[in-house]
Amino acid sequence: MASPIQSWLQHLAADLDARREQHLLRSLRRIDSATRPELAIEDKNYLQFCTNNYLGLATDPELIDAARDATSKYGTGAGASRLVAGSLAIHHELESALARLKRTEAALLFPSGFMANLAALTTFAGEHDLVLSDKLNHASLLDAARYTGARHRTFPHRNYARAADLLTRTSDSAPAHAAEPRRFLVTDTVFSMDGDLADLPAFCNLAQQHQALVILDEAHATGVLGERGAGLAELQQVEERIALTVGTLSKALGSVGGFIAGPQAAIDTLINAGRPFIYTTALPPACSAAALAALRIVEREPARRSRVLALAHHLRTELTTLGFDCGSSTPPQTPILPVLLGPAATALDAAEFLKSRGIFVPAIRPPTVPPNTARLRISLMSTHTDAQVERLLASMRALRDYLVSRRVAADSPG
Ligand code: PMP
Repeated sequence: MASPIQSWLQHLAADLDARREQHLLRSLRRIDSATRPELAIEDKNYLQFCTNNYLGLATDPELIDAARDATSKYGTGAGASRLVAGSLAIHHELESALARLKRTEAALLFPSGFMANLAALTTFAGEHDLVLSDKLNHASLLDAARYTGARHRTFPHRNYARAADLLTRTSDSAPAHAAEPRRFLVTDTVFSMDGDLADLPAFCNLAQQHQALVILDEAHATGVLGERGAGLAELQQVEERIALTVGTLSKALGSVGGFIAGPQAAIDTLINAGRPFIYTTALPPACSAAALAALRIVEREPARRSRVLALAHHLRTELTTLGFDCGSSTPPQTPILPVLLGPAATALDAAEFLKSRGIFVPAIRPPTVPPNTARLRISLMSTHTDAQVERLLASMRALRDYLVSRRVAADSPG
């Protein structure tokens, strides 16, 4: 008889085989260089269009110096949780800068954006409450909503009329005993795999009509959108209508870590009751100092934002002209550009085709995206040169011809 370990491993092997057969197996690639437009992968050089380092800050000398200085001053690790002995001056300085950027009373750091989302929902929503999420929200928000114990409903992507229906229906069926039940309306502002935008004025109006609280995930918008780089709430002028904003330091800000920005009472509650805040070690000093340096650059150099958005706009126009399906019919201003291909096998094939030409844009497959919407997710950086974008376009033109010829071959009889 197989031992429990043997039978468990057999089960895992069967599951992995099934994933492979469906073209859904994932594996890690070894990256041998920094996250610049030119990337070394397993000792070969590629031109990459797939990181979230939208402003090129992860390799900026100012961030590197700040990280080095903070390491010399504070060491490599914070050594303890924030509430014990890990609350370093650099954390307080960064939190003040984030609150200034988001125009909130306060902000609080977390080791990752994932944990910040976890804390934002699990600290404030409980079993008598309702959490309503856009179906395409980031996995961390959807998981966090489940962990709250609240009733959790999702509405079709950006379909606020359906969200309104759900709010009306769930208020009819709210348990009579519930003590002050609350409703939370939760959305990403830039959707990470589609690069499209929430309509925040409509979302906030809906919340107002139903006395709900709005929680935003500005992971992909912070540093990129809005005149000051504060995000979509700034761009769409709804900053005052937001209860809590979650963000990450790991994308445009070139570091790692997450944060929640909001009213002082909410931040004080997170410090007292937010388990993902209380029971974890404080962010490393180097990461905090790098993010603080990034915020100074975001404030000082708006040209980085306009450059990456202009590149994305140009690329979207050209790819659409080539006949690619780039999603949203109203082109949003974000650095993320999906090229929808359908079956996972086609997306893998397309990614391999580009890779063979020295271009790295990995395929994104289910369950990260809905079934039959596998895609290439192109993301741009302000540090991509015009010539690099033209090189991508030339390869995309060749990819288009390749995909058409494959389709013709598949359709032809015999
Ligand atoms: N929210 C969104 C929309 C994201 O795309 C991500 C990261 N992919 C996160 C949250 C999590 O952020 P972090 O990487 O800092 O954990």
